[in-house]
Amino acid sequence: MIPASLPENEPQRLEALKNYNIMDSMPEKDFNDIVLLASQICGTPISLVGFIDEKRQWFKAQKGIGGSETERDLTFCAHALLNPEELMVVPDSSKDERFLDNPYVTGEPHVAFYAGIPLVTGDGYPLGTLCVLDNEPRELDEVQKNALKVLGKQIMNIMELRIKRKNLEDRNKQLEQYSYIVAHDLKSPLSGIKALVMMMKDDARIVSFDDLREYFSLLDNASDHLGDMISSLLAYARDNTKQAGEEVDSYALVNDLIRLLFPPGHIRFVVQEDLPVLFTRKLKLLQVFQNLLSNAIKYNDKEEGLIEIGFSDKDDFIEFFVKDNGPGIAEKDTERIFRLFQVTENKSASESSTGIGLNVLKTAVEEQGGRIWVESEPGKGSTFYFLWRK
Ligand code: ADP
Repeated sequence: MIPASLPENEPQRLEALKNYNIMDSMPEKDFNDIVLLASQICGTPISLVGFIDEKRQWFKAQKGIGGSETERDLTFCAHALLNPEELMVVPDSSKDERFLDNPYVTGEPHVAFYAGIPLVTGDGYPLGTLCVLDNEPRELDEVQKNALKVLGKQIMNIMELRIKRKNLEDRNKQLEQYSYIVAHDLKSPLSGIKALVMMMKDDARIVSFDDLREYFSLLDNASDHLGDMISSLLAYARDNTKQAGEEVDSYALVNDLIRLLFPPGHIRFVVQEDLPVLFTRKLKLLQVFQNLLSNAIKYNDKEEGLIEIGFSDKDDFIEFFVKDNGPGIAEKDTERIFRLFQVTENKSASESSTGIGLNVLKTAVEEQGGRIWVESEPGKGSTFYFLWRK
């Protein structure tokens, strides 16, 4: 018997295997069905999906073999891993020097025939195999070989989806926790501001000046609005699923926001007047516009700032845009800025950059099936587009 050598990228392969969290996981119908199908198509009594770690091959699903794992050095699959792109076929193990005295050949379960297709990650690491075994020497025809390859790919598709789902869940959890902390910490300074504004609003010295009274009433409105947003954010962070849809006039929403963001006087806004009324989650849409508009204001570096908001109809979606004539975004940054904590060299006049806003709104946009992207001409401005479900 000749035990298989280790694949040359073994440490990375093991790391990749760990990322999938598959070893010793619960049985799953998807895998069981594939194993059954492989056996039926190939006409073999035994089939299995096995993953190989340092020492053992563990069966995620199996038919006709029993047990849940075997020692790595005794497996046929460890040999199959060495050629990740190929189906390994052993027509008669008693004539193959790698296996002729293998205890699984000479004793139970008397493996005479083996065909296994490696299960390979997108990065090329073979994690295990889907294989069929028989007690008699034999061959597979082309249709059977092809079916094994296709089923092997399907297993990897299921695994990739699992990992994507896990990453998304982790990221959502992280963001929810983060928004909870931020919202929570914003509450107390805001109550201080609100109390002061209330006090000053009624102060005789201020009441006697019309313009000051007007400013304080705006300030009062803005702090109420901020308070509402923080409360909604807290509620959202506590329970992501409870927000129901409502009728939202996006024209009114954008104009209210512009007023409440107190843009400096040199920035002009042009809002397309027929912005639609949607049935949607208001807070989410508000979050998206609030982030885009405050960035467009915050990063604007022109003497005469211009920010345009408009839309076009795209079947199930509205494609909104927020266009500014600010510094623009370098080509190399246009993808990166949507990731958490990523900022560019653009400086804002007043506030510091955290690189959180765009990531939060990307999640809000993607959650309802949409997409967000930016087109930009550095020096001249940026246009952020996002698709919002109608
Ligand atoms: P923050 O504004 O807190 O840094 P964001 O995630 O909202 O976080 O933005 C990420 C980065 O993208 C910002 O640091 C900024 O450099 C760049 N950016 C965002 N919007 C604009 C814009 N309208 N014009 C130029 N740069 C922008």
